[in-house]
Amino acid sequence: MTIQTSEMPDYAIEAIGLAKTYAASGKMPEKRALKNIDLKVPRGSIFGLLGPNGAGKSTFINILAGLVTKTAGKVRIWGMDIDEMPRASRAAIGVVNQEITMDPFFTPLEALELQAGFYGVPRRERRSLEILRAVGLDDKQDAYVRQLSGGMKRRLMVAKALVHTPPVLILDEPTAGVDVELRRSLWDYVRELHARGTTIILTTHYLEEAEELCDEIAIVNHGEIIACEPTPQLLRRLDRKTLTIFPREALSAVPPELAGLDAALRPDGALAIHFRTGETGIGRLLEQVRAAGVGIDDLATEEPDLEDVFVALTSHPA
Ligand code: ADP
Ligand code: MG
Repeated sequence: MTIQTSEMPDYAIEAIGLAKTYAASGKMPEKRALKNIDLKVPRGSIFGLLGPNGAGKSTFINILAGLVTKTAGKVRIWGMDIDEMPRASRAAIGVVNQEITMDPFFTPLEALELQAGFYGVPRRERRSLEILRAVGLDDKQDAYVRQLSGGMKRRLMVAKALVHTPPVLILDEPTAGVDVELRRSLWDYVRELHARGTTIILTTHYLEEAEELCDEIAIVNHGEIIACEPTPQLLRRLDRKTLTIFPREALSAVPPELAGLDAALRPDGALAIHFRTGETGIGRLLEQVRAAGVGIDDLATEEPDLEDVFVALTSHPA
């Protein structure tokens, strides 16, 4: 199935009032995994869906992929309503699921050819070898899948998602089980696809990962979108860092000279100073600390993690 690229939608994905409630089963109570989600993924973006485990990220992706049926709301993929045009809309996405699922008895080349057949890609239009080369698996084309490492399997899943040349590639927690080196090459390839026009959506629970790759980030928590902004804008709102100072001599309290700062004495004797990078820098803070007569034995800085992000976003609404 070919995608009509002459009709370019503004949004690769649009969800309106999307909700999913998993029915109770056995001892498990009913679960509202998605609550009235509105989300627009601009065509051509690398879009991050960031949230902790259990937030509802995979549920969202699985609704797009047709693996989970939504309870309410509308979804358009590449401008096509998934209820009205289930097949055509799904042909516009390639989805790499969170769990590694593949038949261990096929070789990577066979797996790609089967997948291409599944999507009805005519033989002369297949690009299996080219795709294997792109994900760095060409030397494994005839190995059995069960002989591949976790990272290689993950890359084969990416390859499988690309056989029908979808304009939108969706990766659900793609770095799970991938070592640092493979992660680099995977990201390089994702960036290359993006540069050639593919819209990329990825889910992650790592702020750093979303920050590094995505030009827009939606933060999802307990089935709700609590922020959705271009990455620089979001980071500006989260520009809190912590400077931790281990004093040479024990302090009994925060020195009065530092009363104007957001400083606290921790139980381990360290002085923790929270600050906004947009307002002050570590150099200025250290001068203030020295001026207050505090000798510095050691120091450390901490970036915000996902927990801090939630605190920042929910306590300082935009
Ligand atoms: P995430 O991908 O962000 O970790 P999920 O979408 O997998 O989150 O899960 C969201 C919530 O829905 C969790 O509380 C999870 O336990 C629940 N859930 C996911 N899949 C099912 C299912 N098939 N049946 C019942 N509950 C589910
Ligand atoms: Mg998940």
